[in-house]
Parts: sequence; structure tokens; C-alpha cells
Amino acid sequence: MADRNGWGRDRPVLTGSPRSPPPSFVEQANVTDPGIYDEFEENWPECWEQAADLLSWDQSYETVLRDEEAPFYQWFPGGKLNAAANCVDRHLESGRKTHTAIRWEGKHGERKTYTYQDLYVAVNEFAAALRDLGVEEDDVVTIYLPMIPELPIAMLSCARIGAPHSVVFAGLSADALATRMDAADSEYLVTCDGYYRRGDAFNQKSKADNAQLKLEQDVRTVVVDRLGDDLPHVLGDDEYDYHGLRETFAGETIEPVPRDAEDMLFLMYTSGTTGEPKGVVHTTGGYLAHAAWTSHAVLDVKPEDTYWCAADIGWITGHSYIVYGPLALGTTTVMYEGTPDYPDRDRLWEIVDRNAVDIFYTAPTAIQAFMKWGSEYPARHDLSSLRLLGTVGEPISPRPWNWYYEHIGNERCPIVDTWWQTETGAVTVSTLPGVSEMKPGAAGPGLPGMDIRVIDESGTEVDPGDSGYLTIARPWPGMVRTLYDGDERFRTEYWDRFSDPDTDEWHYFSGDAARVDEDGYITVLGRVDDVINVSGRRLSTTEIESAITGVAGVAEAAVVGRSSETNGTDVYAYVSTEGGYDDDMAVREAIIDNIETAIGPIARPTNILFTPELPKTRSGKIMRRLLEDVANGEELGDTSALRNPEIVGEIQAEIGEE
Ligand code: ATP
Ligand code: MG
Repeated sequence: MADRNGWGRDRPVLTGSPRSPPPSFVEQANVTDPGIYDEFEENWPECWEQAADLLSWDQSYETVLRDEEAPFYQWFPGGKLNAAANCVDRHLESGRKTHTAIRWEGKHGERKTYTYQDLYVAVNEFAAALRDLGVEEDDVVTIYLPMIPELPIAMLSCARIGAPHSVVFAGLSADALATRMDAADSEYLVTCDGYYRRGDAFNQKSKADNAQLKLEQDVRTVVVDRLGDDLPHVLGDDEYDYHGLRETFAGETIEPVPRDAEDMLFLMYTSGTTGEPKGVVHTTGGYLAHAAWTSHAVLDVKPEDTYWCAADIGWITGHSYIVYGPLALGTTTVMYEGTPDYPDRDRLWEIVDRNAVDIFYTAPTAIQAFMKWGSEYPARHDLSSLRLLGTVGEPISPRPWNWYYEHIGNERCPIVDTWWQTETGAVTVSTLPGVSEMKPGAAGPGLPGMDIRVIDESGTEVDPGDSGYLTIARPWPGMVRTLYDGDERFRTEYWDRFSDPDTDEWHYFSGDAARVDEDGYITVLGRVDDVINVSGRRLSTTEIESAITGVAGVAEAAVVGRSSETNGTDVYAYVSTEGGYDDDMAVREAIIDNIETAIGPIARPTNILFTPELPKTRSGKIMRRLLEDVANGEELGDTSALRNPEIVGEIQAEIGEE
């Protein structure tokens, strides 16, 4: 079959053997009827009422979707609701006061449990405090906190009084915080004295102070005392102690403010993997409905579950699947402050075991680390409570997928490989775990109601087996409404390329390249910009990486293009191995062999560089942009956005010695 884009001509789709959902899972799944796809199709957009029905509305909406001003869509317009009331209050009314809402696992083994009643009290008191500090409806409150319970409490307190929150990942720099506060004109900040990082007390407050020096506006700051005597701090003017405020407003209750479905719930920046982070605006009704519905249908969350999404709330995954989705459904959500390897590499499995976690959701970067460390760590614990596994954030290749399936799920738990973005708000592509077959290496079809299309440059859908641009041809409830830096950038980033305003056809462009198979399953091939052009053939870096990680002993790989006089671009591969494996000839040969078999000799790397780690963003994604600069001997920009900046120097030194 010809591939108009030349990204995937005539070769087998790189996925593992399909697997059916285990019958024990299907028996109890929230969604089991394959008819749901047709049902949504025939009844679109009203089908999305199923999602809206998972919420409690103060006033019902006039219509499901208003699209007159596309691409500025409105979902459930006219409806009124409050996100905090949906995530907290209504569970008290339904007799779940003593049910655990948040189970917090601290870095040093501390534990805290918040029942829905506890959460209600905390959110009301802090909402009262925020109001007293002057926060009004629609004021943006910036939250710069690590993974402590005060983070979701602060988010829900904002939501209660109708103040959009902007959570800035705690590991980001003072500059990053200042830029975000400045862009949103935010005059309120919730932060902490510090937190433990690898055993040391790390000063967060001084970063927050530095950020404020760069701001023109006056800021009122609430400081959570996380470290106590380990890091004494003094409060200055316009600075307030969180616990002190809670005491001042002890027992206060605040009526949740009814918000329009289209009112902003929060502002969230993208990870910044491909360039300047984009400030994404999410609204109250559509976002919450989509997050709740996907928690129900994709993650199979039930109120009696203990559910754990091991992401950071500082990214969209944590917003939708630690806070809003699971709490809207009244389940127990686990929140973990630490890292997976402290005190030992079995830390996560110890938490799963002790809490009898039912559902576990993480990222490929973590799964690859687990694989690298070895299966003896999960083997130390009883993981039989697990029912479903999930992954999000980057493509996962078949080998780590199978490792996860076997060593964590014991071949009993379906895996959902969920493709989505900060901009989509919630999951958009995934199998439904109680319905569909899983294909390792392919995320799955679009969810019911989604119109996912892989298209070529002219906008025509590609044939099965071919690759193209991953786009969405119909709006969906959780979609980004605009970018904080303006409607114009919103149109140019996502809509202009494949839409035709004259015929009122709107196609959202994700920025990702993908291939679709005969069953409509999507394999994400990476960012469009990550596709490299070797002698006129466009090759997907993800696919070459997948061939490399298919080799026993290889944990992770990153492939970039290096300019070459002969081919235009050469393939340059960075590889990191599992414990016990080294850079040896056998591994190199196996890598080349695998690439030639899976893709062809054209994709054969001219260089394979072994490195103990790959540079990653704070959200755990490989920074190919930087690796490309390194391979090309170019000057590097700012590396402060990296989680492990030191590795870049090590790689450069290694290349220098070659
Ligand atoms: P920026 O947009 O600033 O470059 P980012 O795209 O990394 O940052 P996110 O919104 O956190 O920020 O990530 C979304 C991207 O993550 C998707 O566009 C896709 O490239 C990747 N991704 C997420 N889930 C999956 C998945 N299951 N399979 C493949 N890729 C995924
Ligand atoms: Mg993106």
C-alpha cells in the first residue's frame, strides 16, 4: 500500500500480539457493551449527556453543544455547577462522609488520610481564608506546591469560590513561576516553606520569593509549613501561614459558587517538550464531565476502589486523574509525595500492597525504569489487589508494555494506553478495557464520541497501515477553550493548518504523527517535528526507538537526526541499558538487526551512543530537541527545564571522546 506521506510504507505495524481483556475483568467492568461506539455515533453530540449525568448541576444546561463560533465551542452552555461541590459536598449527602477521599503517602513514610468529611472541612476553611485575603470570583490563584494534601485542598478551595487556579509544578524555577504569574496577572500565591528532596530539606519559599521580585503586581502569599523545624522560615508582609488561616476560619462554611459550565476552572501550562509551554484554559462543565466520564469508562473507577495515579498534580494528568476525575466519582485517590526508588526500588509496590490498590496509572518513563531495575522489586510484594493498569505521556513500545502486563499485572489486568494532551483535558484515544482487544504498542481507537483522524497534508484520511497527522475532526467536552496568551495563538497552534472556515470544517491538530491500522487503532509515532528525513524518506523516531527497545537488555532509547552531507540527515541513537547489560558488540548488532527488520536499512543509525540516562523534562518526557543539538554539536540553550541536566554534560563528554 502506498503511503502518501512516506512515513510507513509497506511494513508491518509495529505492535505486539493482541490480547483480549481478561474475563475476570470484563465481568465487573463499568463499560462492557461494544454497542457504546454506535450509540455515541448515532446520538452525537447528545451522547455526551452520559458524561454530564455523572455530575450534579445547580441549573441544567440549555443544550449540549453550541458550535456557532467554532473553534470556540461551548459545552453544556447555560448549565451551572460547582466543581468542588461535585468532588466533595455531594458525597457527604450520599452517605460517604467517612469514606476515604485522599490517602497521602509522604516521602519519609508519613501517612495521612482525609475522609470526604475531612476534605469538606479543609476546603471550606481554606476557601473562607482565600476570600478573606481578597480573592474574588475569576481571580487567578497560583499554586506552587509539591505533592502534599494542601495542593488538592487549595485547588478545590479555589474552585469552591469560583477562582481559577494555575498550578505550577513545584520543581520549576523561580523564572518559570514568575512568567506564569505575570501572564495570568495573578495576585495570589499558595506555596510552602520547602520539601524533602532526596533526603534534604529543599527551600521552595526562596524560589517563590525570587519569582516575586520579578513581578510588577503585589502578591499575597499563603505558606504551608511542610518542614517545621527542619527549615525555619519567617513570614513577611502580605504573607500568611496556611495552618494559622485554617485555625482562624475553623468551622466556617462557604456556599459553593455556582459557575457557568463555560466559566474557567483552571489554567494549566503544557509540559514544554517541544517549545514554549502553552497556557491552556479549561472550563468547569465540559472538563469535569469528560474527566469523570473517562475515569469511569477508561480507568474503570468505582467509588469503593483505591485508585492510584502516580503522576504529579503539577501536570494535567494529576489534575484530571488524581484530583477531579476520581473525586468526582467519590473514590479513594492515592497521592504519593516521594520518588519510586526511595527508600528502595520497591517503594511503589510496597504502597500498592499495603493499600490494596485496585487501579494503577503511570507513564512509560516509569515503566522503563522499573524494567531497568528488574522484576525482583515488584516480586517482593503482593500485587493481587490490582485490577487495571494504565499508561500515559509518551508512546509505550511492546516490550515495556509486556513487562508491565506480566510483572505488575500478572497477566490479569488489562492495560489502557491512553493518548491525550493538556489541551484535550482528558483521555481521547484508548481502548475501553472491558470491551476492546489490546494491541501492545498501539493506544487504541478514539473513545466513543471522538472523531480521531489520521490525515495527510491535504487533509485526506490515510489508508490503514499508513501514517500522517493525528487530528480530531469533532469537538469534545474536555477540549481546550483557548490559550491564555490569546485566541490568535489558539487558532494558529491547533486549527489553522487543517480547518476550512469557509466551509465551517474544523479539525484540531494535535502536533503528533500517528499511524492507524485496519481496526482504527492509533499508534502514536511521536511529534511531527520529531520525524526525521533520511534520503527523502520520513522516519518516525518513535518507531526506530521501539525497534531498539525491542532488544533484550535495552531499557530506553532516543533517536534524533544529525545533518549529514550524504543523506541530508543521519539517524543518531542514544541508548540506555538495563542493569546487568553493557555497551557491547552483541547489543549493538541486535539493535541494528532489529531496526533493519522492523523498518529497513535506511533507518540504520550511523551512531549509537550508550548513556546511563536520557535527558528528560520534569514531566518525564525525553527531550529530543536537546539531544539533537548535542548530536549536531550545536550550542545548547537553557537546560534548567530538565529533571536531570547533569546528564547532558556527561553525554557531551562521551561524544567528545569518540
Ligand atoms: P508541549 O506541548 O509544550 O511540547 P507536551 O506536549 O509534552 O508539551 P503534554 O500535554 O503534557 O505536554 O503532553 C501531551 C503529549 O504527550 C502528546 O501530544 C503526545 O505527544 C504525548 N503522549 C501522551 N500520551 C501518549 C500516549 N499514550 N502515547 C503516545 N504519546 C503520548
Ligand atoms: Mg503538546
